Amino acid sequence: MAEPRSCGECTVCCTALAIETAELRKAPGVACLHCTPTGCGVYQTRFAICRSYFCGWFGLPELGEDWRPDRSGILISPRDEDEGIEFLVLGGEAAVHRPAFLDVLTTLLRARTPVYLAVPGPKGHYPARVLLNDALARTDPARYADALASALRSATGHRFEPMPP
Ligand code: SF4
Ligand code: SF4
Repeated sequence: MAEPRSCGECTVCCTALAIETAELRKAPGVACLHCTPTGCGVYQTRFAICRSYFCGWFGLPELGEDWRPDRSGILISPRDEDEGIEFLVLGGEAAVHRPAFLDVLTTLLRARTPVYLAVPGPKGHYPARVLLNDALARTDPARYADALASALRSATGHRFEPMPP
């Protein structure tokens, strides 16, 4: 039987995501105050929002160790709104050039799953998002990496929304 998955040294979700609950509030790009170099410092008693978060790498054993977010530079999160998938790209252009990423992306787009590319903004700001099903509709899959790298570059001019205090 396969070993149960462990986050190891990864703390990406505890830093990259915005958390806006009564119990815990933290801005995107800012490490949670409970975050330690070896993971969550309050893991056994962590908050409901933390327990309910579904990390794509953690939950999908078919994604290898190279997909762990601190290694791949991509955090995969499901979207309740439209049953889609969001790829938050933290690793820049190298992350979207990984063949394993492009394979998964191509499979999802062929299956007509809503797929979003999210680009982090400055600390304390929400990411920019683009629906890739539309953005890549006329793009040859062989050119996805170039199109995504271009989208990442153009996102630097985006007006990122700050998270309210
Ligand atoms: S991003 Fe995934 S692997 Fe990394 S700490 Fe969060 S749940 Fe664990
Ligand atoms: S409480 Fe723990 S699991 Fe939740 S965001 Fe903070 S460090 Fe991460």
